[in-house]
Amino acid sequence: MTLQVGVIGVGMIGREHIARLTHKLAGAKVVAVSDINTGEAERVAAGIPGAKVYASGEALIAASEVQAVVVTTWGPTHEGYVLAAIEAGKPVFCEKPLATTAEACLKIVNAEIASGRHLVQVGFQRRYDKGYRALKQTIDDGVIGAPLMIHCAHRNPTVPEAYVSDMAIVDTFIHEIDALRWLIGDDYVSAQVVTPRRTRHTHAKLDDPIIVTLTTKSGVHIDGEVFVNCRYGYDIQCQVVGEEGIANLPEPESVLLRREGRLGTAIGQDWKMRFIDSYDVELQDWIKAATTGKITGPNAWDGYFAAVTADACLAAKHTGAPAPIVTPPRPAFYD
Ligand code: NAP
Repeated sequence: MTLQVGVIGVGMIGREHIARLTHKLAGAKVVAVSDINTGEAERVAAGIPGAKVYASGEALIAASEVQAVVVTTWGPTHEGYVLAAIEAGKPVFCEKPLATTAEACLKIVNAEIASGRHLVQVGFQRRYDKGYRALKQTIDDGVIGAPLMIHCAHRNPTVPEAYVSDMAIVDTFIHEIDALRWLIGDDYVSAQVVTPRRTRHTHAKLDDPIIVTLTTKSGVHIDGEVFVNCRYGYDIQCQVVGEEGIANLPEPESVLLRREGRLGTAIGQDWKMRFIDSYDVELQDWIKAATTGKITGPNAWDGYFAAVTADACLAAKHTGAPAPIVTPPRPAFYD
């Protein structure tokens, strides 16, 4: 069976997901697109055989030929489209964030539970990265014993001028928030944020770098550096310290060069290239989930938990004190 997919939002990542669904992945085809810029939707649809353009996301979700929905618009519109897809009983892949407030995420969780069907997957693609999967396998196999601490870093060479302080948490560190919780299978209970000396490469509205610390239910202590003007490259580091040993996220494959008196490898400059393969694996997994009704990737509860954690990080940054991370118990629906 070929899953007939409608894509809402044909911006940067929307176009990339459309290309994946159309040219790379098996079991799905894009039959409908929509974007607030209808002209742009028409331009993109012209390159997809048989795809129709819809005047609104709502109309696309309601269309009978659309069996499943991909939401790749900007964050504040996610809630409405995801709720409409649930209402229509259609599986929906929503790029992160699931919604821009924890309340809105919880509304989605409750709507999904009320529908009685697992319909929502969130675009936290790190769970599909080969390196993170190998690291998780090492931890799950007990190779390093119980995890005690995690040291990690999320570094970008530079960011646009419009990137401001909160984005370091809600757009950037949000990937660590989801990935680390999944990595060790442990929920967070509190967050704190420290702002070290600022780099001279930042601007008035951006604290850079910052260090986020998270404590989990079992007491694992996580420190995560977010440094988005680090200059030298896009660099994701993660080291898990366990009772019996230490496991590091593998470095991306790169040729080791001996040249001109130096030994070294190139460091990538771009998040897209660092995680390019994981997006393919992620969407292929979603096609399977949408077809079988069994979601194994990040679900609506994960999207909600990430939003609550991000809110706590923002509150902690504001006060300088630890902020509690409190949610209702995870509904049995997500077990
Ligand atoms: P983008 O390039 O701005 O694309 C978003 C598109 O949606 C734009 O064409 C935008 O039009 C359109 N749009 C805005 N409001 C709409 C509405 N109400 N209905 C229909 N279309 C609407 O953004 P992007 O970089 O692709 O990001 C999209 C989402 O993906 C964001 O939530 C982002 O956080 C997420 N993302 C995730 C990853 C990841 O690693 N998982 C990476 C990148 C992005 P206008 O330009 O006119 O607003």
